[in-house]
Formats: sequence, structure tokens, C-alpha cells
Amino acid sequence: MAKNFYEILGVQKSASADDIKRAYRKLAGEHHPDRGGDSNRFKEINEAYQVLSDSTKRSQYDQYGQTFDQAQRQGGFGGGFNGAAGGNPFEGFGFEGGFGNAGGSFGFEDILSSMFGGDPESAERRNRGVDLEMPLTISFKEAAFGTETEITLEKKNRCERCEGSGAEPGSKLITCPKCHGQGQIKTTRRTILGTIASSAVCDRCEGSGKIPEIPCTECKGEGVKRGRKTIKISIPAGIDNGQRIRVKGEGEAGYRGSATGDLYISIRVTPDPQFRREGSDIYKDADISYSQAALGTTIETNTIDGTVKIKIPNGTQPGKVFKVADKGVPHLNRSGRGNMYVTVNIKVPEKLSKKQKELLKQLEEVE
Ligand SMILES: [Zn+2]
Ligand SMILES: [Zn+2]
Repeated sequence: MAKNFYEILGVQKSASADDIKRAYRKLAGEHHPDRGGDSNRFKEINEAYQVLSDSTKRSQYDQYGQTFDQAQRQGGFGGGFNGAAGGNPFEGFGFEGGFGNAGGSFGFEDILSSMFGGDPESAERRNRGVDLEMPLTISFKEAAFGTETEITLEKKNRCERCEGSGAEPGSKLITCPKCHGQGQIKTTRRTILGTIASSAVCDRCEGSGKIPEIPCTECKGEGVKRGRKTIKISIPAGIDNGQRIRVKGEGEAGYRGSATGDLYISIRVTPDPQFRREGSDIYKDADISYSQAALGTTIETNTIDGTVKIKIPNGTQPGKVFKVADKGVPHLNRSGRGNMYVTVNIKVPEKLSKKQKELLKQLEEVE
């Protein structure tokens, strides 16, 4: 849950604004994903800096172990106090029964969310379908030029019988009798701090304020049904190993017609025996003979689409790299392509014919 932002930036709690900025710059430089850093660590550093560099947010954080923004984002202060730097501001008040962090229906998150105007958890987020992630392996050339494929997933889909509403066809949705259509159950309690109001999502209607008059017989009123679904996926040209594609709305269906989650496809690219890829550039090797290197020649070599001729000048040394412009991988989401780089190897024959042997001997004598 909540991490100590001071520890993340490696500064003291008493650090000055300058100290914090300096620590941030140093760490952000070290952990930048463009320079091979870990993106989660980088995100964490940025998050810590967002809070500690803003004096208002910093003082909220010092006091409550969390900022109000964060509290609202997380839907209440739940968990924010556990192990956070600021400690629990209400510790030591000696509340009785049902009041601690120990759970029950009336925890600190309820009190704080009502004090700070946060919502314990929005019905929208609670009922949204889950995001799914699956790996997909494609070939080197499919990654380069893009492809279309189909995948089959077992997941919660929208119930077709009730079209996701949860109501039996022909029946309608009625106002939830438990929350009277509010979607929330409000509770008030008298405490030593005065009367405290809290609200929780109604468990009968899951916050929608409506329930089916007759629940759908296919999905028992949930609006979702588990099953297999085949989806067409279009892989863009230029995608690389380890990248993810987001397919909007193809995660799990939400409860009773709530928003659907997304599907993330993580791409694995099978290595190619001939080509190596770095970004949009492709690297490969080509063998030539000693005499071709010495005298110069033109060779034909494979690219990912067709062959090209490369002029090898006389006196070419082993390991020399020739650039073939625009024969790399197409750039992802923009026009143009990378280059191909061909490294020349000089191949020494393992077996010689009689004639070759004679000629090489003569050559040796001349040299
Ligand atoms: Zn249904
Ligand atoms: Zn309700």
C-alpha cells in the first residue's frame, strides 16, 4: 500500500525543497526507462516527487501519510495509514467497539472519507469489468510488417439474454428498495468527535440504485456470463518484443452493463536465424571470400522483404559494416523504416581443390 515517499527519494523528513529536488533529479536520471531503468521504480520516484515538491501536498502527507488527492483516488483512506510515514493522527483517541482498523462495517476509511469528502468506492469503478492480459507470440516478420490474428479467450462476457441489464427479457429494472435508489447506504454515528456520517456502496444494487424486477435466468441477474470469445487482433507494423497492445473493451464485461475492462496483449517475438533487431534497425552478417574482399565484388543479400545488391569495394577488411538504407523495420505508428546493417565476414575455405592450392601457393610466393 502506501510507501514512504521520503525513503523512496532517500531523503530525511526534514529535507529542504532543494534537497528533494536534487535527490529527485539524481534518481530520475538513474532510473529513467529510456536509459534502461525500471519503469515501476521510475513511477514511484515521480509519485514521491509530485507530493514532496508541493508544499501543500507535502504537509498533508506528513500529517496523514497520504494526500487528499490520493485519498480520493483510492476511494478513502483505507490502508493509507498502514506503515506510512505520518502515522495515524487518530491513534490514541481510545475509540471503543467497531471503530478501529480491525474491520467491521465502520473503519477509519469511512470516517475519513466522510470528513474529507471522499467516496469510499465509486460504484462505477467497483462494477467495471476486469482488465485482462495475455501473451501472444508472433514471428520476426509479423512484428516488422504487422499482422491480423484471432485469439480465443475464456472470460466474462455480456449476457446476451438480458443484454447485460441483468433483468429477464420483458421485465424491467426497479428502484432498489434497500437504498431507495441512492446506491449508497448512509450511516451516522455519535462519537466523541461529534456525529459522523459515513456512506458505503449499497450491497443490494452494487451502487446502481436499481435492481432487476425479475433476475435474468441465464446470468442470475449479474448481466455477465462466462464463456469463450474469439477476438480479431490487429498487430501494428513495427511492434517489438515486450511491447503491449491495448484492445479497448475486450476485457471482462462489467456487472449489469457497467463499463467493460480492456485486454492487454503482451507481444513476444520469435528470434530470426538471419536478422537481429535493435529498435527499427536490422543487423545481419554476410560471408564473402578472401579474393572477393581483396578484389572487390557485388553481393546479393536477403532483406526482410526481398534481396538487395551491395557493392563491396576492393580491399574490404573483415568486420566492415555496410548500411542499406530503409531496409530495416517500419517505424511503429509513423511512416518510414529503419536501416539494415550488414557485417562482412571473410570466409576462409576449409577444403581446397588442387587448382586453388596451386594458385594460393603462387600468391604466397608473390606476397
Ligand atoms: Zn442475463
Ligand atoms: Zn441499493
